Amino acid sequence: MASINTGIEWTDKTWNPTTGCNKVSPGCTHCYAEALTKRFAKNFPNGFDLTLHPERLQEPLHWRKPSRIFVNSMSDLFHEDVPISFLQEVFSVIRQTPWHIYQILTKRHERLLELAPQLNWHENIWMGVSVENQNYIQRVDYLRQVPAKVRFLSCEPLLGSLKLNLTGINWVIVGGESGHRHRVMQAEWVRDIKHQTNSSDVAFFFKQWGGIHPKASGRLLDGQIWDEMPEAWDKHIKKWGSITIAAINKSKKENLNLTALVEN
Ligand code: SF4
Repeated sequence: MASINTGIEWTDKTWNPTTGCNKVSPGCTHCYAEALTKRFAKNFPNGFDLTLHPERLQEPLHWRKPSRIFVNSMSDLFHEDVPISFLQEVFSVIRQTPWHIYQILTKRHERLLELAPQLNWHENIWMGVSVENQNYIQRVDYLRQVPAKVRFLSCEPLLGSLKLNLTGINWVIVGGESGHRHRVMQAEWVRDIKHQTNSSDVAFFFKQWGGIHPKASGRLLDGQIWDEMPEAWDKHIKKWGSITIAAINKSKKENLNLTALVEN
């Protein structure tokens, strides 16, 4: 599975410069990436072992439409087997494609913070951590120290109630688990998180209730769909929405700064 358009509601495309992972916390128990790897085994000769795909690094350079790109839907970019040099290459591609937004999500908060000073945090990076229950709330404190322009939480699968400190956080996604062995998410947990985002003026995105399959119980919360995005997304689209292939090609050919080209 390389880079594909996706059904994930809060993004447009996935980009997987690495695949494979191993489990680190209860949110991983029914890992969707692992299930997909088993289902499409022919596409994953190394199974679910962490695998680097340098041949995929250049892909976003060829996607001309400004998009939200979920980095590593099939892995965890801050996995301990991903060398810093490879991470720097990923971040370099991000720098070269300022018309995209890159949504990076990790459960490896310690490695994220340890390596953050060695990476360039371009303004098109949205950095997130998963928080499935109160035992993993410390991931938010680690994330807060990372100099990303947008910081977000993915509370999916939500496995318990959460008391969140949302200082420095721009966006919270909540979702229930799906699959035959899904763990049921209680409505009070979701409403309580929604209330906390309201009080802190943080964008709230309700992805789904979950069930046997992701769409089994829909995505209405108290009769409404909650699809809020960080303010940075509107600003990004205003700036880059009308970028043309000609402008991108001109900047490459003449070695011009694309951001300056768009701003003029
Ligand atoms: S960190 Fe993510 S990709 Fe890795 S095992 Fe856990 S859920 Fe799966």
